[in-house]
Order: sequence, then structure tokens, then C-alpha cells
Amino acid sequence: MTSTLTSLTCSASCGAGPFDPDRTQHLCPACGMPLLAQYDLATAAQSWDRASLAGRPRTMWRFQEVLPSGGRAGPVSLGEGCTPLLHARRLGASLGLDRLYVKDESANPTNSFKARGLSAAVTVARRLGAATISVPSAGNAANALAAYAARAGVAARVFMPRDVKTPFVRECELYGADVTLVDGLITDAGRVAAEAGAAHGWYDVSTLKEPYRVEGKKTMAYEVAEQLGWEWPDWMIYPTGGGTGIVGMWKACAELEALGWMPAGRRPRMVSVQAEGCAPIVRAFEAGADRAEPWEGARTAADGLRVPRAIGDFLILRALRESGGTALAVSDDAMVAAMREMGAAEGLSAAPEGGATLVALRALLAQGTIAPSDRVVLFNTGGALKYLDLLDGTV
Ligand SMILES: *Cc1c(COP(=O)(O)O)cnc(C)c1O
Repeated sequence: MTSTLTSLTCSASCGAGPFDPDRTQHLCPACGMPLLAQYDLATAAQSWDRASLAGRPRTMWRFQEVLPSGGRAGPVSLGEGCTPLLHARRLGASLGLDRLYVKDESANPTNSFKARGLSAAVTVARRLGAATISVPSAGNAANALAAYAARAGVAARVFMPRDVKTPFVRECELYGADVTLVDGLITDAGRVAAEAGAAHGWYDVSTLKEPYRVEGKKTMAYEVAEQLGWEWPDWMIYPTGGGTGIVGMWKACAELEALGWMPAGRRPRMVSVQAEGCAPIVRAFEAGADRAEPWEGARTAADGLRVPRAIGDFLILRALRESGGTALAVSDDAMVAAMREMGAAEGLSAAPEGGATLVALRALLAQGTIAPSDRVVLFNTGGALKYLDLLDGTV
């Protein structure tokens, strides 16, 4: 069996759809909000057994039934996914936690979990005949788009804030992408990219403005379930910017129940970690709001978290609340200290965003929200090597 994708439907209260995925690729034509992919999970459940995974190639495309199709050419792949879930015994012991795990997404192509989302998005873009694909990015999404577009033989145009770290720019250039640096934040880069793209008919793969980056990222939850022997952890702690990861993983929880691979009613609690200098989701969560107000003057060394406004804010907040999870902000200094701690204790190469999850865990243990007997998964969403300047000394 191949993809069981049937349609796209509006994720917001408008609920419009079903839309034909071959004709509609971006936001809801009725209300302008994100679309989400729907699959024929009943059919998939009949003919797809989780035991079949063992015999499949070790990339995220082994979940092809619940991913979009690349058509005859197949997926655009660089070997993304199937990252290790490491039992962090030493780090856990230092916190009084026996069952601490780290999903190490630094092992992906281009060193971050952005590879999963862009592998899926570029696969669809190529199938639909896109000649140029564009993305606004804080850094890692641009690197991933540049690599996957090169792999697909399609042109890439990336737009990043002017103060982005040099390694992100050089890596885009390495893959032959056209780089534009924009004054301001990722939201400003998004505006400039959209204006340029509209004139030229570029295929835009902005976070949640096309539906398939979420699909790629949801495979992290499929893998965690499999790696824990088809049991959920009690907590998943995730550094949240635009929210594709948390939205995708919460979607995966529902799909896994529909497939009959995971029992109902046992889903993990989801935790969003943000930076103290840019925490719109935390503020909205604490206020009990359904949408997040834009964050003024966003500032953090964790580029992936410097997202002052997320189009999918309501989906993130819904996942946190439905799961019984929470949201909290941590300081940049603490994130950098945690990068060193994860490195020294476990040999992990953690981005500041990955470090942020450890800081959050420590705070939630201190509050008594997380118990020492709980099973916890931290998502190390990227590696340290593009952030070495942070390790020079002061932040
Ligand atoms: C993009 C990014 C994030 C934020 O991810 P979302 O799924 O968009 O919330 C976190 N960490 C790193 C390293 C990133 O590149």
C-alpha cells in the first residue's frame, strides 16, 4: 500500500473542506487558516500492521501510508528520520529521574528535525511540478529546504533575518540556494518572501502555510511510540517556535489510535518550551486564551524560538490543553548551560532549543508537575555545531 491521503480540511473553526490535495496546497480558501491532511485510516488499519515496519528502509518514509505521495518519482529523501531515542541515564540520575529519554533530532540531514518537514513538503512540491520553492526561516528550515530542493533538482529561495548566524547562510549556499537577508525577524522575512513569491509564482513552504511540514514532523511521535515498545511516555517536552512539531505530534497521537497501534486515552502530556525573550504561546496559555498576541521585541539566542507570531497558535494551544500539558519560558543563559550539561553528561550535541527542554524539565520537577517516576522524552531538535559562538563564553 502507498499513501492513504484523501483530502485537506481547514484546521480552524470554519472547518471547510474536504479539498482535493492535487488542487489546493496552501491555506484554507475560505478563511485563510492552516489546512491539515486527512488519511483513510480505516483502510490503512486493515492492511497495515506495525510489525511491517521492521522490514522497511530506515527513514521516516517507512510511514508512507500516513504521509503524502511523491508520485512516480517517490519521496525526496536524504535519509531523514529514524533518529535515536537515547535513554539518558546519567542526566536522569542527576535529576532523580530513572526514565529520561532524549529524541536526538540532531542526527537528521542538515542537523535538525526541519529535515522531516521539508522532505515531505518538497516531495509534494516536486510532484506538483514546482519550479522554485521558497521559505522564510530563522535558519534551520532554510538549510533543510536548500538541501531537499537540491536533491529534488528544484530551485530554492530562502529568506532569513539579517542577523542570522553565518553557518546557516553558508550551508544554504553550499546547497546552491538563493539567499536573501531581511531586516527584522522571521515574520518580516515571511512578508518579503510572500511578496516576491506572489510575483513569480514560487511554491511557498512557510510553517503551517502548506500542510506537509506538519506531516513530516509528526513522524517523530510515530518513532517515539515504536521505540518505547508501543507505549507512550508520560511527558513530551518540546521547544516551540512556529509549532509544526507539537501540532504534528498531537495529530500523530490521534492517528495512532485510529490505526489501532496505540490504546486510546493514554496520550502523553505535551509541554511547549519557549524563550523568556519570546514567549507568545506561554503567555496565551497562562491567560487561558485561544490565540496568542504577537510578542513585541522578540529576543533570544535560540533562533528556532524567535517566532513572535505563529499562524498555528490555536493548534499549539489546543494540543497543550487537550493533552493536559503546559507551557513555560526559560532564559537564554540557562539554555546554554543546559547545552553543556547535555554534552558533558551524555555526549549529546544540543542546539540551545534542545537545551531549553532540559531547563524546562528541571523547573517542572521542582514544581512537582513532573514526578520522578514519570517517563519523559526531551526533543533535541538540532545539533550544537551551528551555534558554537554561544559556547565561546557569554551569551
Ligand atoms: C524550528 C526549530 C524549532 C521550533 O520548531 P517548531 O516545530 O516550528 O515549533 C525548535 N528547535 C530548532 C532547532 C528549530 O530549528
